[in-house]
Amino acid sequence: MATMESLIGLVNRIQRACTALGDYGGGDQAFSSLWDALPSVAVVGGQSSGKSSVLESIVGRDFLPRGSGIVTRRPLVLQLQKTEDGQQEYAEFGHLPRRRFADFSLVRKEIQDETDRITGKTKQISPVPIHLSIYSPNVVNLTLIDLPGLTKVAVEGQPESIVQDIENMVRTYVEVQGWKPNCIILAISPANQDIATSDAIKLAREVDPSGERTFGVLTKLDLMDKGTNALDVLEGRSYRLQHPWVGIVNRSQAEINKNVDMIAARRKEREYFATSPDYGHLASKMGSEYLAKLLSRHLESVIKARIPSITSLINKSIDELESEMDHLGRPIAVDAGAQLYTILELCRAFDKIFKEHLDGGRPGGDRIYGVFDNQLPAALRKLPFDRHLSVQNVRKIVSEADGYQPHLIAPEQGYRRLIEGSLNYFRGPAEASVDAVHFVLKELVRKSIAECQELKRFPTLQSTIAGAANESLERFREESKKTVVRLVDMESSYLTVDFFRRLPQEVEKTGNPGGNPRETPPAGANIDRYAEGHFRRIGSNVSSYVTMISETLRNSIPKAVVYCQVKEAKQNLLNYFYTQIGKREGKQLADLLDEDPALMERRLQCAKRLELYKKARDEIDSVSWAR
Ligand code: GDP
Ligand code: MG
Repeated sequence: MATMESLIGLVNRIQRACTALGDYGGGDQAFSSLWDALPSVAVVGGQSSGKSSVLESIVGRDFLPRGSGIVTRRPLVLQLQKTEDGQQEYAEFGHLPRRRFADFSLVRKEIQDETDRITGKTKQISPVPIHLSIYSPNVVNLTLIDLPGLTKVAVEGQPESIVQDIENMVRTYVEVQGWKPNCIILAISPANQDIATSDAIKLAREVDPSGERTFGVLTKLDLMDKGTNALDVLEGRSYRLQHPWVGIVNRSQAEINKNVDMIAARRKEREYFATSPDYGHLASKMGSEYLAKLLSRHLESVIKARIPSITSLINKSIDELESEMDHLGRPIAVDAGAQLYTILELCRAFDKIFKEHLDGGRPGGDRIYGVFDNQLPAALRKLPFDRHLSVQNVRKIVSEADGYQPHLIAPEQGYRRLIEGSLNYFRGPAEASVDAVHFVLKELVRKSIAECQELKRFPTLQSTIAGAANESLERFREESKKTVVRLVDMESSYLTVDFFRRLPQEVEKTGNPGGNPRETPPAGANIDRYAEGHFRRIGSNVSSYVTMISETLRNSIPKAVVYCQVKEAKQNLLNYFYTQIGKREGKQLADLLDEDPALMERRLQCAKRLELYKKARDEIDSVSWAR
């Protein structure tokens, strides 16, 4: 109805917010309780004072049983539920779920029948409430409670206790009860009775001494004795309340019997006040329509007072969700170009971390130096030259190289074979260095992927990058191996002639400066080519030469390894991958950005919730700014 429209907007927005939050808020009591926090309105008054009639005019529908005597004998908890515009109006009872009443006269009949079902056809009352929901585009979400009228005496067929029973029952609805938001009291008094005897005012004064939630309603102004008026009451002189008194003229029993409809009744009421000699000056503040407006304005302020706490709760949830979303990462783009861009960005993020590991800043790169500084020299030291250059072995190799004709001056072939044989041993440590660095690099790739926050959500891309990086490392390793083996082979293929040129004279005159002094024979001694000393000297010469080469390789192998593996890894680790990825189609790109399903689900939920919270916030914002 027109008077309720501003409240409809307000409550609707809040309800939309609530529904949005309630649907996904799960156990979030803070949100679902918002709906419960909307105030309810209870109608209190003496029997036949016009309670049901007032309630009906607020709702704007005829559906309640009305009449003389005790008609309302059970509390009626009436939940008005706003539906989408254009929807058919209907009512549903709590005791008859799924049965829709579109005819409101049948609603009235069902209220009567259901009352009788509990109380019998007697004039008994029952505290068991009837729950009725009205679904309509024209109502606000609001709970209204029609209560049995307060009486003074039990009538025929009623137990003596009925007077007290009714009062107790009414009290349970209007008294302040712990967590429940305070109920608004519509205190109905008929104008044709002395206000001093009003049961409604008596009870309201007890449960709401300050009068802040009591609305005084004076009905039956049209039934007052000629020559009297209710101005003392309506102008607040008889009994003062915080809210103004409202006078009402409802339909008489005769009009109800004649089926005078709500619209006609309203018109008649307006005319009554407009033409009344007593109330003409109050006309704009009298009548059911004004009462509805007053009530709705009050409800608005009560509801609005709750908004700040709701808003702050919503904002807090939004903050929390947004930080979780940041952690989860934003959803991925759908077009191929953007996906390619995302993939390249992610590769770069990984590559950056990998480089930091190599260059320092992150640990691990130092282990490569460890290979050069410890592992390689240790391996070189452990090479079995003692065994290879033992007197027996030297003799054996030199003799074999000589063949049937022993060497005359120096065993040229023997030297070469001994040196070649020795140099071959260097392949092992050279290749081992390559492998050791390879494993360090591989481990750094693994670490870098694990440390790359941006990559976390993309397990497929993670393993693809790892695969591509490891493939590259494998290629670098092959190249590096070839290179270090070549370094060794180069040493075998051309010996340092100077070393040997100086050797014979030095051996025979001054001794071998590179060899062990103990093995140096006295100067000028005759050389017996077949004596042990001769072979020892050869072994010692070769050993000196090998030591020199070992020194050279100890320096050149790291250079080769860094050149072939480390530098390559730093500059070209993903280059091959980049050339491949450029050729991929949209679908293949999307596959690479396949996320962990659990994570995707979580993000979806978060995003949904976030959207709802934001919607709720917008709804509530627009409420705060309304009017
Ligand atoms: P309740 O028992 O308090 O719920 O009162 P009802 O709404 O059932 O009304 C009791 C009787 O008083 C009915 O016959 C109504 O038609 C009549 N009535 C209520 N208000 C007015 C009024 O303002 N003027 C007239 N003439 N009759 C009224
Ligand atoms: Mg009633």
